[in-house]
Amino acid sequence: MSKKKDFLRTIVENDLKSGKYKEIITRFPPEPNGFPHIGHAKSISINFGIARDYNGHCNLRMDDTNPSKEDTKYVQALEDAVKWLGFDWNDNLYFTSDYFSLIHDYAIKLIKMGKAYVDSLTEEEIREYRGTVTQAGKRSKYAKRSIEENLDLFQRMKNGEFKDGEHVLRAKIDMSAANMKMRDPLLYRIRNVHHFRAGNAWSVYPMYDFAHCLSDYTEGVTHSLCTLEFENNREIYDWVLDTLELKPPRPYQYEFARLNINYTVMSKRKLLELVEGNYVSGWDDPRLPTIAGYRRRGYTPESILNFCDQIGIAKANSMVDVAQLEFCIRDDLNKKVPRVMCVLNPLKVTIENYEGAEELDAPYYPDDVPKEGSRKLPFSKEIFIEREDFEENPPKGYFRLTPEQPVRLRHGYIITCKEVVKDDNGNITEIKAQYHAASKSGSQDTSGIKVKSAIQWVSATHAKKVEIRLYDRLFKNEIPEGIEDLNPDSLKIIKNAFVEPAVIIEKPDERFQFERVGYFYTDPVDYSDEKPVFNQIVGLKDSWGKKTKVKKTAPKPQTKKVQIDGEVIPMSNEQKILFEKYTNDFKLNKEIANTLARDEKLSKFYEDVLRKYNSPVSIANIITNEVARELKQKELTELKFRPEQIAELVKMIDDATISTKIAKDIFEAMSKSGEEPKQIVESKGLVQISDSAIILPIIEEVIAKNPDNVEKFKAGNTKLLGFFVGQVLKATGGKANPKVVNKLVSEKLK
Ligand code: ATP
Ligand code: MG
Repeated sequence: MSKKKDFLRTIVENDLKSGKYKEIITRFPPEPNGFPHIGHAKSISINFGIARDYNGHCNLRMDDTNPSKEDTKYVQALEDAVKWLGFDWNDNLYFTSDYFSLIHDYAIKLIKMGKAYVDSLTEEEIREYRGTVTQAGKRSKYAKRSIEENLDLFQRMKNGEFKDGEHVLRAKIDMSAANMKMRDPLLYRIRNVHHFRAGNAWSVYPMYDFAHCLSDYTEGVTHSLCTLEFENNREIYDWVLDTLELKPPRPYQYEFARLNINYTVMSKRKLLELVEGNYVSGWDDPRLPTIAGYRRRGYTPESILNFCDQIGIAKANSMVDVAQLEFCIRDDLNKKVPRVMCVLNPLKVTIENYEGAEELDAPYYPDDVPKEGSRKLPFSKEIFIEREDFEENPPKGYFRLTPEQPVRLRHGYIITCKEVVKDDNGNITEIKAQYHAASKSGSQDTSGIKVKSAIQWVSATHAKKVEIRLYDRLFKNEIPEGIEDLNPDSLKIIKNAFVEPAVIIEKPDERFQFERVGYFYTDPVDYSDEKPVFNQIVGLKDSWGKKTKVKKTAPKPQTKKVQIDGEVIPMSNEQKILFEKYTNDFKLNKEIANTLARDEKLSKFYEDVLRKYNSPVSIANIITNEVARELKQKELTELKFRPEQIAELVKMIDDATISTKIAKDIFEAMSKSGEEPKQIVESKGLVQISDSAIILPIIEEVIAKNPDNVEKFKAGNTKLLGFFVGQVLKATGGKANPKVVNKLVSEKLK
């Protein structure tokens, strides 16, 4: 169980203590209209997790009330996802469609009570009659139909005597309710389509608001946990159960925040668009945030559950940094998987003074990992090293192989470059080198040769050619809207990489750390003996900053130990203390705290800024992203800006003078010119716009330009709110205050 109790577990505990329920029953109720994504993983971990923690049970319920979009292949994918995450519904697999008769009977009961009526207004009229937030709606004239007429019409709707949209069944509640959802909500609509389970038995299908509460009640669910967008539906949920006077105990609905991750789209509709448009290879494309995608890519269920645990359960929506998920998988694999060698871009090295071949003893794990095991690593005269690990004209701080500087071959010998062979175009084709027999790893090194780093390599004669698939974020924008934001470089296939023999396995279900490169998984679909294929699960470090094409500078001179780039080195005591302080006192997330604590320059700068302005989280964000990028190339003394200026910048973000997007632009300018952030804001007119008189006309324009989406939104697709907000923000060049835009757009669209 997680350390700190979340608000849902608090409710559950109180309900058990008060005797409201004997057993806790939750449910995970997906609609089988697409593959589940990591947002569903959060819901699964909450629902199944709570049931497990309180010795109850969790039902898996396919919420299949929208037949035109549903399919058994999605049912299978949902079952697979729940199982893969390690949960079990035992015998409790249900389908809302199994309750169609029962739900229908409840509808008849409501009609007989005079609490439901058949309405024959058109869709458009229904929308019009509903009114607005500021204006009461008006009731349809059909609400006056007699009980007999309603019963007769509803029967005929069910039998398929009418066309789609001709009639609907509505609850008779209150057309002037403040909560617009309560203005006579729809209970049933006509859909003359085949249902993948119920066949052609039904021409009417219940709406979510009617089916969900009754399904929960029927299954004896106690806590119906859903995401925040259903907050306003809670009143209908209660109304239905109360009006029908159902025998207690009855379920209650509680809402929690939806998971959103940056650089990711997380709605089945958008994912379907990517799959159907062949922008990805299928639902299990390793770049997708689907469970099937993560699974194929090589993520472990533990890492995903840890992630869900870390982000916690909140009552307000927020955006989680995808780096946090990446941290979780790295953290999980760091101590679990063997470390081996792979060369992505081979450069041949011929060791002129070496003859024959030998097998080196190479442990799979470093000393600080409590796992054991080793393999025989073949070494011979011809090897491949990574092209990047040799520089003829090295920049300052380059610690790998150069004509002057020897390097250690990981688990092997030190080599020295003797000759650089080039083709007619001046490209390096080969290095001729010498090895130093006395420098063998694992024995007393008596060579007396000093090196500053160790690099990976493979024996050319023993290595196996493999295909490596490197993945980058699928979207280039932090908050992508759709396919127009796809990152064209999200997949890079390397056909001619080489791995050491130990990496070749019989059955493809293995994960490795390729030293200094990242974590990799045998692709479960395409891996074969002829063509072994490896998916990159995640790099060794958060490498999103690499886009600036800054070469990583070498470790600082005081680092005596030969550092293997990217290997997770245990923290020193001081670093641990900082890490604790950052996570516990400052409430930074682990990834950010880790970055800061391990980097002396960064943490010093961070604390300097904090002394000027106390806003630990916001400051940490800008330091680990923006400032860190600068410090990769520069020393503290070379920075154009001072801690005061960063404090000033963060203050402006915090008080909503500028948006975070604009803050990035200001930072760019400031780091080049050293100008004061306030001045930049003023001279470029970047102040965040919160004035509704300015924002409203832009909203109106966006609304006018997108009549189709307005329709869809008004018809109930509330997720389009994000689309409208995004468009408005875009139109203002990111200057509009997102909170204000959100509020105004919601009002405008009601
Ligand atoms: P989508 O928009 O992706 O289709 P949905 O909410 O319509 O999502 P459902 O299949 O209806 O998908 O959802 C099943 C359950 O998973 C619901 O209880 C829903 O609240 C929850 N869920 C869906 N997306 C998320 C998310 N991003 N974070 C947390 N829970 C989610
Ligand atoms: Mg849905």
